[in-house]
Amino acid sequence: MSIDFEPDALREKYQSERDKRVRADANEQYVEMKGQFAHYLDDPYRAVQERPALHDEVEVAIIGGGFGGLLVGARLREAGIEDLRLIEKGGDFGGTWYWNRYPGAACDVESYVYLPLLEEVGYVPRKKYAPAPEILEHSRNIARHFRLYDNACLSTEVTDLTWDDTERRWVISTNRGDRMRARFVVMANGPLHRPKLPGIPGVETFAGHSFHTSRWDYDYTGGDSTGGLDGLRDKVVGIIGTGATAVQCVPHLGAAAKELYVFQRTPSSIDVRDDRPTDPAWEAQLQPGWQKRRMDNFNNLVSGIPESEDLVHDGWTDIIGNLLIRLRQGEGGDMSPEGIGRVMELADFDKMEQIRARVDQIVQDPVMAEALKPWYRQFCKRPCFHDDYLPTFNRPNVTLVDTDGRGVERITEHSVWANGVEYPVDCLIYATGFEVGTDYARRAGYEVHGRDGVTLTEKWADGVSTFHGFHSRGFPNCFIVSIVQSGFSVNFPHMLDEQAKHLGYLLGRAAVDGLTLIEAEQEAEDAWVQTIVEMAQFNVKFLEACTPGYYNNEGRPAERSVRNGSYGGGSPGFIRLLEQWRAEGSLAGLETD
Ligand code: NDP
Repeated sequence: MSIDFEPDALREKYQSERDKRVRADANEQYVEMKGQFAHYLDDPYRAVQERPALHDEVEVAIIGGGFGGLLVGARLREAGIEDLRLIEKGGDFGGTWYWNRYPGAACDVESYVYLPLLEEVGYVPRKKYAPAPEILEHSRNIARHFRLYDNACLSTEVTDLTWDDTERRWVISTNRGDRMRARFVVMANGPLHRPKLPGIPGVETFAGHSFHTSRWDYDYTGGDSTGGLDGLRDKVVGIIGTGATAVQCVPHLGAAAKELYVFQRTPSSIDVRDDRPTDPAWEAQLQPGWQKRRMDNFNNLVSGIPESEDLVHDGWTDIIGNLLIRLRQGEGGDMSPEGIGRVMELADFDKMEQIRARVDQIVQDPVMAEALKPWYRQFCKRPCFHDDYLPTFNRPNVTLVDTDGRGVERITEHSVWANGVEYPVDCLIYATGFEVGTDYARRAGYEVHGRDGVTLTEKWADGVSTFHGFHSRGFPNCFIVSIVQSGFSVNFPHMLDEQAKHLGYLLGRAAVDGLTLIEAEQEAEDAWVQTIVEMAQFNVKFLEACTPGYYNNEGRPAERSVRNGSYGGGSPGFIRLLEQWRAEGSLAGLETD
């Protein structure tokens, strides 16, 4: 396979673009939404319904009503567990899809593999990429189908979780005055759950209208998640951030605002989206088991595991297809991990050259086009897929304010300053993402007090410590659903479902065997942490060369990502490991009573 780029030159360019973005304050550059910023977290979608405080008891409490909590609830129902309660801070189920209703919001992994439990619920999405309202409705359908509204507490934020060792119960306190008890607790808080603000000097002084994309203010902008933001016709709007969220909402802002400034620190990679309605003929021929086959096929391909066919065939699987073609053509006869890594790098260069060429094809202004080109490996940041984002920069009312990696300089009462230039704005939208890598309790919004009052924050002060990502010794009967020391897939709900099935098995076993205590053995937990650390090395090397972002702890992967990262053997490997563990059947590594 011929190459028409210089690998060494690209490596050097990637390195220099990375270096100019690495900051001493790394993850500390962001501001927590508390105190004077707490109002950015208010729920704009649903008024809180009054209800009496609860002082009751359930067998299983699930914290979080997003896909994680819904999947656990569904799999527990399948395991025959009736006495359960979901607790959700939003006014309804849906999690990320409850909060993220910004214009243009839609999944960017194919909906037939992204939306979980399609066959169970009896639904096929209407488009290749389902829009946010359809995904939110599917979440509600899952809740209805598995009777998860029964006994649920919505608009309820957990404020504290404390283990009562004598009674062997968790005591759950909430912002609604509840003090409930549960034998088992599942924490499915979500990985991108707590929005963050950039710590730009003066961020607190802005006096115009402002909000975070995860709390879109349609009262101000008009329109809905399909666009039509008529309230912005006479407004100058600034948006900070050009990640996956901004890529989806900027086309709508560009279409509506009198003037739009897009403040960019690092461009995203924007590949073809090619959305289309679901083909009725394809839908009609689907056979039972189709969704699992498709999810496995996608997950294997994006994890670099060959499949005889590519069922999804999109921008995610493309890069792997390219790699396999190269390998088949005999490039890299060296099949060691390093050898495959070298060919993978070439496939990546190829892909990113296509992405950069696409910018030139679409964006008319050559200076703007240059600034919109991403110079890093594709999986250093979340790859984006959109057909309207780049053309938006051809609109006369849209200005890209590229800061060459430096970010916005400062914010004043009515303006945003970048590159020494003042940009007065009426409305400022923060598309600045969510906390990753901060303490678990800070992101969750509550502390967990385990045996002898030890908190999870104290136990994890030097890094996370779990068995299989689910259990942490000293916190019995508490199960964590997260990507830390667990599996990670770009198709996030797929991994959540595998975790949910695992918990369905565990709690189903607890019910059948009459177990009242499940806790990680110390040796098993230590061994798992060791496995995570050993297997992280290859990934850390990759991430170290990446431009900063939440994937690599803002350029410092070695500090937290090693121990606090995901299982290094890939998500198919993690799924297999859990399946084998369940098949073995002895609950190895767990102390039970
Ligand atoms: P991100 O964290 O990806 O993006 C934040 C953006 O803010 C980045 O462009 C960042 O720049 C920028 N930024 C931060 N500080 C400053 C500053 N001081 N000055 C200028 N710019 C700044 O958040 P998103 O909400 O876009 O996406 C979060 C994740 O949500 C995605 O990665 C994806 O996993 C998920 N998502 C999924 C979707 C789906 O369809 N499944 C859709 C949308 C989001 P820099 O890159 O330089 O740090």
